[in-house]
Amino acid sequence: MKRLLAIGTFFVLVSCSNSEESIVEDQGCFSNGTKNYKWTMVTTWPKNFPGLGMGPENFSKYVNEMTCGRMQIKVYGAGEFVPALGVFDAVSQGNVQLGHGASYYWTGKVKSSQFFTAVPFGLTAQEMNGWLHYGGGMELWEEAYEPFNLIPLAGGNSGVQMAGWFKKEINSLSDLEGLKMRIPGLAGEVFTRAGAETVTLPGNEIFLSLQQGVVDAAEWVGPYNDLTFGFHQVADYYYYPGWHEPGSTMEIIINKEAYNSLPDDLKAIIKYAAKSANQEMLDEYTARNNKALTELVEKHDVDLRKLPDNVLVELKKITDEVMEDFIKDDPMAQKVYKSYTEFKEQVINYHRISEKAYIDTRELD
Ligand code: CA
Repeated sequence: MKRLLAIGTFFVLVSCSNSEESIVEDQGCFSNGTKNYKWTMVTTWPKNFPGLGMGPENFSKYVNEMTCGRMQIKVYGAGEFVPALGVFDAVSQGNVQLGHGASYYWTGKVKSSQFFTAVPFGLTAQEMNGWLHYGGGMELWEEAYEPFNLIPLAGGNSGVQMAGWFKKEINSLSDLEGLKMRIPGLAGEVFTRAGAETVTLPGNEIFLSLQQGVVDAAEWVGPYNDLTFGFHQVADYYYYPGWHEPGSTMEIIINKEAYNSLPDDLKAIIKYAAKSANQEMLDEYTARNNKALTELVEKHDVDLRKLPDNVLVELKKITDEVMEDFIKDDPMAQKVYKSYTEFKEQVINYHRISEKAYIDTRELD
């Protein structure tokens, strides 16, 4: 009997190593585990929405592929399982294991969360990825979400957005007075101080609100997404640039207990699947925005305009005031803002003579 036990122990040890016996073969797929995981991911986006909604779909697909189906993630669109803006609570409370959205929707709960999506006149997509992954941003994001039982990961980026859809022309700052606009986050506060009335609405409520005159203007993302929602049917002027969201990062949030229950290989797969989904979204926008913009202008006669420099200068001044007040009573927001600002100052310095100088060079005749 003792000998049999010893032999048994031997095989258990062998099966934990990388020997052939440890590998379970299933349709050309190799998996080193036997326990299956069926997880749920709720999102703030309509199901399968181009760009944003593909973030969670791609993440789920990559995890499924890399685990040979050992971990399956069912993705729910906004309102299918929880409302769009109920994602944070659902994951934090452990009702579901995963969420996909944008951290600035939770500014009311975690002030510093604003910095992990976008800051007016702040970092671009490339710069955000640099700050998050090599500039200390991720560590701060983890610290900010720690009290909420959440682990954050970057899960997509829109690139520079558009300033938005307006029913009337914007020629000076006074044109913002009394304007009702859908514009969330810090930019909403900037517009409020400029005299506008601002609201935060989930994407799927914007069209009707514009159409019915609940709002006179709205920003959403950029040409690729805005064309899908058909905003050109209800507003004439399409303004750029996206001063308010220069490179919005999307988030994947994981319930901490659920994450800690995973074996190390699945933890690693989740991390790298998120990194892939993060880059993939930016690639999709980079490839599709231009095509959509051409369609909006050439097929739908959209009046494309740049916000006048005098308006942008004023918005920038107001942004500085808003930032000062925003962080005033929140030590964590101050800490994150300091890190963000220091990184921005350094990266701007280099991008002035690299990205910007190069793009300017490309425009030369
Ligand atoms: Ca936006």
